[in-house]
Amino acid sequence: MNFTDFHFDENLKNNLRRLTDSGRLPHAVIIESRSAQAAEELARFLTMLTVCTSDDAPCGVCRECLASHSRAHADVVWLQPENKSKTYSMAQIRSVIEDAYIKPNGSGGKAYVFENADERFKEDSQNAFLKLLEEPPRGVRFILICRSALSLLPTVLSRCTVIRVGGDDIPGEEAREAAERIVSGIVSGDEYPLLLALNVLTDREKADGVFAALRLIMRDGIALLAGAEAIFGAESAKALASRLTKSQILALREPTDRAAALLRQNVNANLTVTWLCGEYRRISWQK
Ligand SMILES: [Zn+2]
Repeated sequence: MNFTDFHFDENLKNNLRRLTDSGRLPHAVIIESRSAQAAEELARFLTMLTVCTSDDAPCGVCRECLASHSRAHADVVWLQPENKSKTYSMAQIRSVIEDAYIKPNGSGGKAYVFENADERFKEDSQNAFLKLLEEPPRGVRFILICRSALSLLPTVLSRCTVIRVGGDDIPGEEAREAAERIVSGIVSGDEYPLLLALNVLTDREKADGVFAALRLIMRDGIALLAGAEAIFGAESAKALASRLTKSQILALREPTDRAAALLRQNVNANLTVTWLCGEYRRISWQK
């Protein structure tokens, strides 16, 4: 696996090695990123991996690799919307479905990349695409790039593996633990531990990291309920998913973002935390 020319961090490199070594790199990958550039880079790498026939794919130097690195490989399609609304038309999706069953020109596989998938894929075209995701032809890989995997249909999401890259700072261990305590408080049904856990947010230095971790845990909770994998991997996402409904978890995100904004504006931290505690209680303890 040749990472020359790619700006991947060690974590991502290890993940990619682990997935390919165990033969578990899935046929359908969602790249979730706030950075279009980082996502595009990983997508290009995955297309090289799909078409390269070297034992140590992607080798980065063969004809297949070079062509797909420059987005010019015949077996790699970067699907651009044809209509004015900048979404994929049903005709386009149907032609992808037909094309996927045609053998590749080279000796490797075929790849289809869908950039801005969360905006370009309408619900009906996602549904049309679903069957292909369920039973993909051999050697074919689908790569969906989006800002938030959650904006795709749960049925699509559950058939893909999500890889998150760039533009999204991964909170540290301390922030994760603090966020896990807050989530335990939310699901405990007891006000005191929740308020105690939320107290960390009065420390403005720590608050941003904790909020980021909280959002990731909530996101994972929703993913778990949709049958997809939890990516951030905090244990408390499972607790959240087992105790709350999807709409409750979605509702929790609103006061979370609001409190984060208030604290950034230097609104009284204790008042904000008390308010947030009340909102969490209201949403999560309602029957
Ligand atoms: Zn190669």
